Amino acid sequence: MPRVSALRAVCIFAFSVTAAMSGGCGEDPNAGPTGVVTEDGLVPANGDVTSPASLRVPVLLFHGVCPATCRESDPYAIPQLRFHEMMAVIDKLGFHTILSEEYSYFLLRQPNHLPRKPILITFDDGRADAYENADPILERHGMRAVSFLITADIVAKRGYYMSWDDVRAATASGRWDFQLHAHAGHVTLPVGSPDASGSSPEGHAYAWRAWLSKEDRNETRGEWLARVRTDLDVGTSLLRLRVPGFVPRLFAVPFGDYGEYATNDGEIKNDMRYELDHRFVAWFTQEKKDPDFTVPFKRAEQHRFEVNSSISTDMLETWLTSHE
Ligand SMILES: [Zn+2]
Repeated sequence: MPRVSALRAVCIFAFSVTAAMSGGCGEDPNAGPTGVVTEDGLVPANGDVTSPASLRVPVLLFHGVCPATCRESDPYAIPQLRFHEMMAVIDKLGFHTILSEEYSYFLLRQPNHLPRKPILITFDDGRADAYENADPILERHGMRAVSFLITADIVAKRGYYMSWDDVRAATASGRWDFQLHAHAGHVTLPVGSPDASGSSPEGHAYAWRAWLSKEDRNETRGEWLARVRTDLDVGTSLLRLRVPGFVPRLFAVPFGDYGEYATNDGEIKNDMRYELDHRFVAWFTQEKKDPDFTVPFKRAEQHRFEVNSSISTDMLETWLTSHE
């Protein structure tokens, strides 16, 4: 393996998303982190060579982890034993977990903090069972995970979701990194006038212009955008207040739906892309069944391999090995 000191090194220039980064490059304290480029490729500061061809990161999506047998009505949960088996497979294959800061470096092609074979493990919703049952296994394997929180539900649905005390304790452990999933926008809303029985069609809150029953009309696009922006602002502000060291870097779109499917306004998906691109280094959806590993320079929408009750440990291993 070539060593950094033996190679011609050139400092990687800083990217504009300085809020997502820390550290400095060369003598410019405002520039990005130190990284070097050689004829052999990109070389992290720790001396491990990561060739451009290998700079791809698999991203996994979990929701719940139940202690033993999961309820059939909960297809988004897997048993703790299977989660343990999956982490053992990830270990066996030589992957090393990273958090949002390292993943942001990777996306912006500043891989100086990346371990060999990086992998990003994510959890959506901030479920208490996922934290309680996954955390001991992550600890046993020396692994870490990013958790996307629904900030309004932390208090409103206490018990089902992690508490703020849980979030602070998990952050202090160094194993968990918290990012935003939504504030109150992880819901469906009425999106059209009610029928004769009084029931209205419903759509995901970020993806549709809601029905305003008192005014007997749908929101304008401006009203929809103000509602979504407020939700993102409040959630981000709460995380800043409650989570020590929080920096908004990644976002998981509620239900993986930003209006790219069914909606009552075809422009919503474009407005959402613009809004999320300017707030986060990257944002995730969850609908792709067999996604590729993620690649640098492709910021914005990223896909994840969703592990739900129908995914076995063998299926996860097949995905990880077939996309390497
Ligand atoms: Zn969710």
